[in-house]
Amino acid sequence: MKAEIIGIGTELLMGELTDTNSAWIASRLPALGIQLQWVSIVGDDLPMLTEAFKSGMKRSDIIFTTGGLGPTQDDLTREAIAAAFGETPTVQPEVVEDLERYFAARGTPMPQHNIKQANLIPSARFVPNRNGTAPGWWAERDGKIIICMPGPPSENHSMWQEQIEPQLAELIEDEVTITRNIKTMGMSEGAVDEVISEFFGVENPYLGIYSKADGIHLRVIARAKSSESARAMIAPVELAIHDRLGEYVWGYDDETPEQAAGKSLLAKGLSLAVMETCTGGALTNSITNVPESISYFKGGLVAYDGAALRAIGVPAAVLDNHGVVSQQTANAMAEAVRRNLNADLGVGLSGVTGPGELEGKPLGLAYISVTNGKRSREMEMRLPPRQVTIKRRVPNQALIELRRLIEEIS
Ligand code: ATP
Repeated sequence: MKAEIIGIGTELLMGELTDTNSAWIASRLPALGIQLQWVSIVGDDLPMLTEAFKSGMKRSDIIFTTGGLGPTQDDLTREAIAAAFGETPTVQPEVVEDLERYFAARGTPMPQHNIKQANLIPSARFVPNRNGTAPGWWAERDGKIIICMPGPPSENHSMWQEQIEPQLAELIEDEVTITRNIKTMGMSEGAVDEVISEFFGVENPYLGIYSKADGIHLRVIARAKSSESARAMIAPVELAIHDRLGEYVWGYDDETPEQAAGKSLLAKGLSLAVMETCTGGALTNSITNVPESISYFKGGLVAYDGAALRAIGVPAAVLDNHGVVSQQTANAMAEAVRRNLNADLGVGLSGVTGPGELEGKPLGLAYISVTNGKRSREMEMRLPPRQVTIKRRVPNQALIELRRLIEEIS
């Protein structure tokens, strides 16, 4: 089933409002086996909207819209569908009563303009709105479906989850789409592409490769009659990825590096302390974004110069001989914070985030160290010379190295 989404509202066209509704709906369609092929934005203009519905019905089986269902004169979604279908709307008394009750419950009489929200054409039915006055519309004509939801996310999310999605699932029995996202770190995009090249270019299951701040992601998407068959189609691709890239895989689906590391720490009953320079607390921020970190995280220290590092236990000799930005200093930071905060594992991060060189070392150079006092993992990174990139990528890499060390020692 081919679908499209129309975000309705002049505010969207003016750039005053971002169309997050369409992205939200788009993210829900693959699991229903609906293929999205077109997304557009149309202003509050009756001829334009009518045209959008007419052309949408030519190319798509189903059109989703949000917005333009309110009571004001520029809310024209209903009128445009009526015009596209060539039907005349009539006021539905039972919906007028619902609206009157809604306003009475809030202690005010219903404004007369709201009556237009009770308009319906013969080819449409209402979809109740639990969180607002504008009911949705489900219209069907010539085998095509138009589903209209109100603009506010609080209204369309509940409408979708409670009513639209279950009805669509019943309607679309022919296909489901299952996605598996496998996350790797440590190999370049080109190298990953080469190792599993024979799986690219296949339509179903489709394999996509994406470069992200936390590594190279491989997304396998399979369409089949049932979830089981779709999963069975994904399995051999996932197995091959594991056979060839297993040591680089660190997570799946929506998992973040901090969640993956946190899961390993919790599973092994280990505690963690970190010390960072160049990332200014970004590593600590990531770790504490996981609520369960309260069980394994002892603390994170940010030191921004040599004196602060010495105060926290980095030997002066290490700093004098190698400088703040060095593998030796990162190692000493990891061990000092581990010992001082009485943790099982310590992480040290040191690097150059700008504005220019530091100690004659280039912007973008960073060192990671992870240790349990007996065994360590070390890494030198050379990143693009942008502070936001460094602050995002160094903590991600450190968390992945941490997870790898936990695997090695257990
Ligand atoms: P209402 O009954 O509240 O008037 P409506 O269906 O007429 O609902 P609009 O008036 O078009 O919807 O939009 C109401 C509000 O919903 C907007 O001010 C905005 O906050 C939100 N909204 C509308 N469209 C979108 C969109 N595409 N993405 C995100 N938010 C949106």
